[in-house]
Parts: sequence; structure tokens; C-alpha cells
Amino acid sequence: MVFEGIVIHKVPYKERDLIVKLILRSGALGSFYIYGGQGGGKHHKPTIFELGSMVRINIREQNKSKLEGLELMVASETQRLWEPDQLRHNIQAFYLVCLYFEVLQKFAVNFQLGFSDQNQSEHEGLFSVMSNALFYLNESLKSGKFQASQQLMFFMTKLLFHMGIMPETDLCSYCGNSLMDSKIVSFLPSDGHFACGNCVNAENDLGFLFRLKKGYQTKYQNYAELTGSNFQEADKLIQYFCHHFHLRPIELKSYDLLMRMS
Ligand SMILES: [Zn+2]
Repeated sequence: MVFEGIVIHKVPYKERDLIVKLILRSGALGSFYIYGGQGGGKHHKPTIFELGSMVRINIREQNKSKLEGLELMVASETQRLWEPDQLRHNIQAFYLVCLYFEVLQKFAVNFQLGFSDQNQSEHEGLFSVMSNALFYLNESLKSGKFQASQQLMFFMTKLLFHMGIMPETDLCSYCGNSLMDSKIVSFLPSDGHFACGNCVNAENDLGFLFRLKKGYQTKYQNYAELTGSNFQEADKLIQYFCHHFHLRPIELKSYDLLMRMS
């Protein structure tokens, strides 16, 4: 059986082995035991399991009844298909990717042999959001256009949309009037709604509303068109995400690290 996915977590085990977690093409999370996965040894073999790398893993064929329900699969052959080679040169980008993976692990489902269907496509969109995010983040680093808040804003917008919890961006959630006709709109992260200035008197989030709409309409490869983003706005989406999953942003460790740098 062959799996392909992106390394989102890894833990060294024993002297040279590794346990890695991948987001698979199906959008589920799969865990694998890799003998010698840390690299090193006599020939100083490098590891291919850097965070964010796309890998292919064949698993050992075993007695099927033994494998049923197993969450940790043992790899027989491994191969790296792609790596975000710029990531290790930029600590802010690295923390950002760690945040993506942390966010993902808050809600993605685990793959279980025998119980999960590898070909199910329900969550494929999740894999494509993640692979696009990594690919274009790496591109932005290559071309010197990397902006952490822009990347984060784009990622969160695409993610919320895929999850079907994108905030309503057309109408006031209280009176139903068009938000675009209002000079003042406010975002309410605890509801994931916008309200017009007549209904709620708070900070004006019109710029944020524009960027959210723009992010939603723009293809990942055109991420640079999302101009004027900032961390305050990206934070509103993080707050909303956390509220939805009953988390506190402080539980996202890499978010804290990222914010301290910005
Ligand atoms: Zn209103």
C-alpha cells in the first residue's frame, strides 16, 4: 500500500528511527514508523522527513487482520517528492508553517487501516489548501516577496472556506442590509459574522472585509494580489477559528512565537 502526503509532525524514536505524521492526499492524517528515518549513521545520510516535505511511503504488507484499525503503519520504502527548500533560511516562515500544522491537527481526522478509505475525497480540499500554502510560501521566499501576515491571511481564508465556516461577507448578520453599502462594518470573531454600523458600534473592519472577500476570490498562485494585509487582521481569523473549535489562541504555541517576532 502506498501513501503520499506532507510531513506535519515528527518525533525521533530510539537511536535512529522516526515517527512521522503526514497529511495524506485524502486529507486525513496518517502516522508512520520509519526505521532509520532520522538519517545519520555511517554514511551520514540526511533525513528526507523535514517538516513540510512531500513524501511517498510504502508500508509493509502484513496479515490483514493484524493491521485492522492500526493507526501507526510501518514503512518499508520511502521517497521524498518535494521539499520547501527555502524554509530553513527564514525562521518566521518556519514558525508560520508550524502554525499551519498545529491548526490542522486541531480538527483533521486520523487515518486508520481497514476503517478509513484511502480514496475518499471528502477532505481532499484540505490537502490542496495545505500543499498550495507550502508551495507558494516557498515561492514567495525564493522571489523575495514573503510577507508572513499576507500568507497567514490567505491560508486562513482558504482553510475556513474549505471547512465551510467562512464568515458571511455580503450581509449584516443583524439587519440583513448589504455590508458594502455601509461605511462602517464590524467583525465579531465570536460569531464569525459582520455587522453594519447601524447595528453594532465598534472598530471599523471595512478593510478587513475587503481583504477577506479578495482572499476568497483570488487563486493561490495570485497571492501577491492580496495587498495591505496585517497581523491584526489575520488575528481576527485565528480568533474566529479558535472560537469555533473551543480553543484559546494561546494553545497554538507557534502562533505565540510568530506574534513575538512580528
Ligand atoms: Zn445591520
